[in-house]
Amino acid sequence: MKFITKVGIVLVALALATGTYAYYEYNQIIKSEPSIQVFTFNDQAIEYKTATVEYSVLGGLIPFDHKYNQDEVLTFNTDQIVNNLLVNPETNVKVTTPSQKVIVSRGSQTLVFDEDGKYKVEIDEKLDWSIAHYEFFVDVNNLPNITISNLTPYQGEVLIIDISNIKQNSTIEVQNQFSPSVILQQTYTARFYLPMEFKTEAKSYPLTITINNKTYVYTLDVKAYDFNKQYFSIDATIIKNTTGNPVAINEFRATIHPLYATAEPVEYWQGNFIVPVINARISSNFGDMRFINGAKTPSRHSGIDYAISCGTDVSASNSGKVDYAGFLILTGNTVVIDHGLGLKTTYLHMKDLTVKTGDKVNKGQLIGHVGTTGVSTGCHLHFQAMIKTQQFNPNSLYHIE
Ligand SMILES: [Zn+2]
Repeated sequence: MKFITKVGIVLVALALATGTYAYYEYNQIIKSEPSIQVFTFNDQAIEYKTATVEYSVLGGLIPFDHKYNQDEVLTFNTDQIVNNLLVNPETNVKVTTPSQKVIVSRGSQTLVFDEDGKYKVEIDEKLDWSIAHYEFFVDVNNLPNITISNLTPYQGEVLIIDISNIKQNSTIEVQNQFSPSVILQQTYTARFYLPMEFKTEAKSYPLTITINNKTYVYTLDVKAYDFNKQYFSIDATIIKNTTGNPVAINEFRATIHPLYATAEPVEYWQGNFIVPVINARISSNFGDMRFINGAKTPSRHSGIDYAISCGTDVSASNSGKVDYAGFLILTGNTVVIDHGLGLKTTYLHMKDLTVKTGDKVNKGQLIGHVGTTGVSTGCHLHFQAMIKTQQFNPNSLYHIE
C-alpha cells in the first residue's frame, strides 16, 4: 500500500513537473519571434517579414503551429530556365511545378524551371527548437534568347546563331533558303552556323527559327562583297592534265565531294580558328573572279591562297579529324579536316603530308608543308572552308569561337 502510494506520488509529481515544463517552454516560445532568415532567389534577397514556425515541445511530444501572417506570400517573376536559390545548408527545399510534380532537395539549389506557369517553393529550416517554414511562388514565362552574329552579312560570311534559355532536347528548325550546319544542342542552349556563299545574291531574305512550335522571324540583308578580278595564264599542258582532264576532275569529285555531305552532331574544334601558315602573302582571296588564259566567264576562287616558300609548315586551323589525306591529280597533296557539325577545312597543293586519313588532329598541329602540287603556279597553300557543300570565306572562321 505504502509502495503504491509512493509510486502514485512520484507519477503525479512527474506529471506536474512535465506539465510545468511544457507550460514554461510554451511561454518562452510564444514570447520569442521566429528566426527570420534571408535567402536569395537569382541574387535577389527574399526578406521575409513573416514566416510560419512549428515548435516541437519536449522532443516532439507536444507539437503545435505558431503562425505569422501566412497570407503574405511573395511572388517572383522569372524568364530564366536555370535559377539559383541560396539557402542555409541544413535546409529542405520543396518545389511544386505547375504540373504538380514535386521536387525535394536540401541546401542551396540550381532550380530548373522549364515549364511555364506558377511554381510553389517551400523552404523548411530546422532551428534549435522549431522548424521555420517559408514559401513563395515563382511565375515562369520562358522565352528563348536568340542571338544572330550579323543581320547584314557580306556574301561569303558565316553567321553564328546562338540560342539560350531553352529546354533540353528542344525541337529547333530553321527555314530559309540557306543551309545551316548541324544544330548543336547542349544543356539549355543551342548553336548553329549559317554560311553565305559568294554566289548568294545580295538582297533580303527571311530567316525563320522555330523552337518547340514557336516561331521567330528575322530578316537577313546580304550585302554585295567587292570581289577581286584576277587575270592570269596557266601553261596549256598543266590545264590539259588537270582542270581539262576528266580523269582528274572525276577523281576529285569521287574522293572529296562525298566528304562534304557528311556532318556529325559534335563540335571537335576549340576556340577560334587559326591561319594555317604564318607570315604568308595572300595571293588570291575568297570569291575572286579568275580569268584564266583569257576565259570569258571567270571561274571563282573557292578559298584563300597563302603564298610562301615551299617547305613552310602547314598547321591544322583547328582540332578535328582527318577525313582525307592523300594525293589527287587536280589538287596535289590534299587534306580535309572535319571539325564537326558539317564544318570542314581543306588544304591543297602541299609538298608532303604528315597526317593520314582517320587521324585526330589538334589545333596548330603540323599536317604537311607548303608545295606547288596539282594545279598550281607557285608555292602556296590553298585554304578552303566549307559547311556541308557550301563554300564560305575562311576569314569568317577566324571570328568563330
Ligand atoms: Zn587557291
